[in-house]
Amino acid sequence: MSERDIGLVGLGTMGAALALNIAEKGFGVAVWNRTGERTTEFMDEAGPLAANITPAATLEELVAAIRPPRAVLLMVPAGDPVDQQIAALTPLLSDGDLIIDGGNANFHDTERRNAETGGIGFFGIGVSGGEEGARHGPAIMAGGEPSLWQRIEPILKAIAADYEGEPCADWFGPGGAGHFVKTVHNGIEYADMQMIAEVYGILRDGMGKGSDEIGTVFERWNAGRLQSYLIEISGIVAKTADTASGGPILDVIVDAAGQKGTGRWTAIEAQHLAAPVTVIEAAVAARNVSSRRTARAEAEDLFGTGPEPLSSLTVDDLEAALTAGKILCYSQGFGMLAAASDRHGWNMNLPAVARVWRAGCIIRSGMLDDMAAALAEDPGRALMMAPFFADILKDTHGSLRKVVAEAARHGIAVPALSAGLAYFDGMRTARGTANMIQGQRDYFGRHGFARLDDGTEGRHGPWAD
Ligand code: NDP
Repeated sequence: MSERDIGLVGLGTMGAALALNIAEKGFGVAVWNRTGERTTEFMDEAGPLAANITPAATLEELVAAIRPPRAVLLMVPAGDPVDQQIAALTPLLSDGDLIIDGGNANFHDTERRNAETGGIGFFGIGVSGGEEGARHGPAIMAGGEPSLWQRIEPILKAIAADYEGEPCADWFGPGGAGHFVKTVHNGIEYADMQMIAEVYGILRDGMGKGSDEIGTVFERWNAGRLQSYLIEISGIVAKTADTASGGPILDVIVDAAGQKGTGRWTAIEAQHLAAPVTVIEAAVAARNVSSRRTARAEAEDLFGTGPEPLSSLTVDDLEAALTAGKILCYSQGFGMLAAASDRHGWNMNLPAVARVWRAGCIIRSGMLDDMAAALAEDPGRALMMAPFFADILKDTHGSLRKVVAEAARHGIAVPALSAGLAYFDGMRTARGTANMIQGQRDYFGRHGFARLDDGTEGRHGPWAD
């Protein structure tokens, strides 16, 4: 019977949780998984929600179970699996049906698939919040044809996280706009995590605090301006004991960070857009440095250990530095979204992006509500220039400078915080130093420069005469 509202392919971590979420909100969902045993297992786990779920043994059965015009949500790994599933589904679907990719796709792939699918619609949604979010309310960043969005909006808004009555799901433009927003979300996530890790490093190696004490610091910060999911879980992680050793779990976790590529994509796309997202770039590079464990151990043997104890910083300095770093990072991230929107003609609603990120996603934080308000006041203005955030920066950039300087003096690497500070200093220097670069370029390549005094362009220095 063709009665289900939507089909879902891929009952992995995210797909299974989303299917249960959809069923719980009263929608009918047909599910299919490449490995059939997983479907059986999933139906057992579904309990009473199984009444709203149709398990399909084949893709044909899946398609037959969905009410036309059909919508099929793919929750499979990004890349080839998505193309394989589109190829397998396309002959079974009809014009007017719709395939939705809910994985972490590269937005270029989403743009390509949009162009390729012909009569069958294609739509890209970024889903954030991990398994818990997918099950009980993720943040959803959608992109594609507006008419397709209108078709799936009721289901996506019903399953999304709720922020004070507003669903954290929205449409951000045609083509790959939704997956682009998700990519930048993940880039910011890398940066937030890195800055927290840097502050953790100062607390641990500089100030000699134990994990439990560090957890208490994060708990306190989570009750203030830095309130966020990532600060909250950092406190929990720091306070958690390892069941095997009895000591802090952080002491047994290898210091090499994994990554699946979305942070790197953010940095790459930022370069294409000439959008400075230096904090995110530093965070991606720091994960790469972290993975070179053998080389780091050899360098420590050769040069001596980096981190040295320091007594010149307080916990309040660190809180203020993290606050400043966060504002600068988000100012860069929203600036990148604005640049992409201009480049691709997406006409993206930046305050709506901030609103969607307020709940359900990994970077959710108290500050995002203020960011949404600041962006709504003037979407064309850099976030760091909005009076609310400019006032906080005026109060905190001194602490960011002190923390970066003291960390540097004591051999503690703080690449993301340093990048934020350098960006801040660069951006508030009206007369910069690129006149030297332009002079060099003209000297060796006759690239020409603009003159300050008369405003003329394409001028050359006397060295070429
Ligand atoms: P999992 O690895 O848990 O599950 C992957 C699913 O895809 C499985 O059902 C698997 O089936 C199926 N699959 C894998 N390859 C193929 C293929 N070639 N053809 C058909 N089915 C295939 O992944 P997640 O649920 O974690 O992730 C799904 C997507 O969501 C990814 O794009 C991921 O980046 C994204 N995402 C993940 C988040 C997370 O926290 N995990 C958060 C946000 C987004 P089988 O059982 O047969 O192996």
